[in-house]
Amino acid sequence: MNKASRIFCPSLITPKNAVVKQTEQLSRSQKLLTELGLVKSGSNGTYQIMPMAQRSVDKCIDLVQSNMQQAGGQKITLPILTPTGLWKKTGRLEGDISEFYMVRDRSGKQFLMSPTHEEAVTAMLATTSPISYRQLPLRLFQIGPKFRDELKTRFGLMRAKEFLMKDMYSFDVSEETAKETYSVVNSAYDRLFKQLEVPFVKVNAATGMMGGSVSHEYHYVSPVGEDNLLQCSSCGFAGNSEVVKASASCPSCNSSDLNEVRGVEVAHTFLLGDKYSKPLGATFLNTSGKPQSLVMGCYGIGITRVIAAALEVLSSDHELHWPKLLAPYDVCLIGPKQGSKEQPQAEVIENELLLNVGEICGHQELLHDDRKELTIGKRLLEAKRLGHPLTIVVGAKSARQDSPKLEVHTSKGETYELDFSETLKLVAEHSQNKKSLERGCFQRETEESKSRSVGHQL
Ligand SMILES: [Zn+2]
Repeated sequence: MNKASRIFCPSLITPKNAVVKQTEQLSRSQKLLTELGLVKSGSNGTYQIMPMAQRSVDKCIDLVQSNMQQAGGQKITLPILTPTGLWKKTGRLEGDISEFYMVRDRSGKQFLMSPTHEEAVTAMLATTSPISYRQLPLRLFQIGPKFRDELKTRFGLMRAKEFLMKDMYSFDVSEETAKETYSVVNSAYDRLFKQLEVPFVKVNAATGMMGGSVSHEYHYVSPVGEDNLLQCSSCGFAGNSEVVKASASCPSCNSSDLNEVRGVEVAHTFLLGDKYSKPLGATFLNTSGKPQSLVMGCYGIGITRVIAAALEVLSSDHELHWPKLLAPYDVCLIGPKQGSKEQPQAEVIENELLLNVGEICGHQELLHDDRKELTIGKRLLEAKRLGHPLTIVVGAKSARQDSPKLEVHTSKGETYELDFSETLKLVAEHSQNKKSLERGCFQRETEESKSRSVGHQL
């Protein structure tokens, strides 16, 4: 059971009239995350993730992981330190290296604190005794911290110097099968982003420093985005302005109704060919036993950036709103105030709810706000700012002799007055929605299910 009184949640209280030294540009979601004690700013563009936000990060990791495994991915962990010599071989040290963290060990050997792992994973395969065509395709992924010495860190977790990434690398026998892998992984990405229920656009992208031939980016559209996108309002086609340069009409439907929007890049996929396998000598033995270069792809998802950008898109200035599958908890239960007239009777109901709600949504998904020294109003305000999908208030009306009622608030801003069983029904409905999302069912909410049969809306 999660008790609000026990959770380490170092909220930031700024005294009125205080002069706050603004060292960094904050977005509204980042401001809320910091004020509510979910994320703390560390030194110089790094962040400390507190328990409640960590729950969201862990849920995102699980979701990404399950989608990667469905796409045939196998999880590995590569060292954060990559010898710079490998990057010399692929030519990537000759580009702009100002954003790389380099360290030396005591013998003077130089390493990169990896911003990405193409070299490391390809070198690993190059030193693996002959790989047979029978072992391919191979799809390896990891989830771990990445480092980039950003000149300008911005918007908290959205652009930090250390961030959490999922990176997958695929190895195939030919360009043709590599394209199949590319489409399998892209479908897994499409499914993942639908599960998160934040509108996203997928665009053809420039391959940039990664190289290769084909590339797609996944963006959340937000004013704080750093990429310019062109979106067609007739067919929905979107392209990175770098790619769809000066095009007066949509490449897909020819409509001239193109709008410029800002996008936050949350994922990126590349078909790499032999750009890394060739210089690093990563080969497999083909059907006639001859060594041949592996054909590669790489696929990134910024885990912490997905969360930060999703919150930015969904939240208001005063309240966080989470994707259903990433909310730290499903339900928050607020008990009666200490010393109130209704306390004894309300606590009987509170205890029954703790048991029943926990059984329906899972005890780990229930947050019990047991800080009874605080008024219900104060706790409800905080619950709303934290954006719990459902908040159940066990207040004065719960202790009424005739038709006791609970107040239920949803993160969509609806408030219901419900009896005990109607409340459980609403919790069950939420859990069902989550389960079908996890299974990858994306049926649109029907009008019927929208106008709930339970209770009446206040
Ligand atoms: Zn179009």
